[in-house]
Amino acid sequence: AKGSGRNAYALFDTSLRDQVRDRMNLEQALRGALVRGELAVHYQPIVDLATDELDGFEALMRWQHPTLGAVSPLDFIPIAEETGLIVESGAWLLREAAAQLAAWRAERGPDARPLHVSVNVSVRQLRDQALVGVVRDVLAGTGLPPGALWLEITESGVMEDLETALATLDALAELGVTLCIDDFGTGYSSLSYLNRLPVGIVKLDRSFVSEVGEHGANESIVRAVLAMTRSMNLRVVAEGVETALQRDWLRDHGCDLAQGWLYGRPRTPAEHAGLIHRPTVG
Ligand code: C2E
Ligand code: CA
Ligand code: CA
Ligand code: CA
Repeated sequence: AKGSGRNAYALFDTSLRDQVRDRMNLEQALRGALVRGELAVHYQPIVDLATDELDGFEALMRWQHPTLGAVSPLDFIPIAEETGLIVESGAWLLREAAAQLAAWRAERGPDARPLHVSVNVSVRQLRDQALVGVVRDVLAGTGLPPGALWLEITESGVMEDLETALATLDALAELGVTLCIDDFGTGYSSLSYLNRLPVGIVKLDRSFVSEVGEHGANESIVRAVLAMTRSMNLRVVAEGVETALQRDWLRDHGCDLAQGWLYGRPRTPAEHAGLIHRPTVG
């Protein structure tokens, strides 16, 4: 599907000079992307492993450049962070994702399982004084229950400036939003600080998930993470679930939620129109 894999994205020249030029061109183009309407949000389903019911979506940013085509977030998010453009586009994405969630919840009606939306928040946003106000306004503007808005932060993002991050995270927790540690397992000494953070969800990185069910070396690590998070009353989302074998192993070992190509790729809201009303996913 278009824009769904690393290979689908624009490739760039590899010599150093070309890299520098590409980088400057990209930065230049990114500056106008938001006002030109080139940014979009795609949504990937997150599913309850015990029941196969839809629990929510992760919102993922997409950039459709007029000539380069689809630029990977792995290429443009770092530039957006370094230039500070992520503050503005991140706020836009928060508003967009929250409005979409409110529309989906209204469409499903009051008797359906209430969905959540999960939004990536970068280090740069975490350091921005305005973030808490943006989140507060988004909640007030949509009337969403705060817990339905999940914010994903990475370990490295938190550890880079622990004190500032902690203050912001506490303020966000105060608003009642659900905080998640993203890409869990890839960063620092994860376990030692987890109980200092006001998080409710751990997102287990795909690099661990890809090996479970096949007696891979990471199975024991995933077992340990699931045991630890259970004792801390944290819920776990396994990311990058691609096979039924992985799903079954994760379900059997008490993982709560799953996300990955097995259930669906990131897609536009229009492409998810059918999914919203289906009783189970996968
Ligand atoms: P992430 O937060 O870890 O997001 C999950 C990535 O894994 C997404 O790539 C998603 O398409 C991909 N993925 C999901 N399921 C599978 C699977 O089953 N198999 C495989 N191989 N991959 C899967 P995507 O959309 O290219 O995003 C890459 C990264 O860019 C994200 O990683 C996140 O760190 C960053 N990103 C994307 N959107 C935003 C955003 O709005 N704000 C910020 N700050 N970062 C973003
Ligand atoms: Ca994420
Ligand atoms: Ca992740
Ligand atoms: Ca990841």
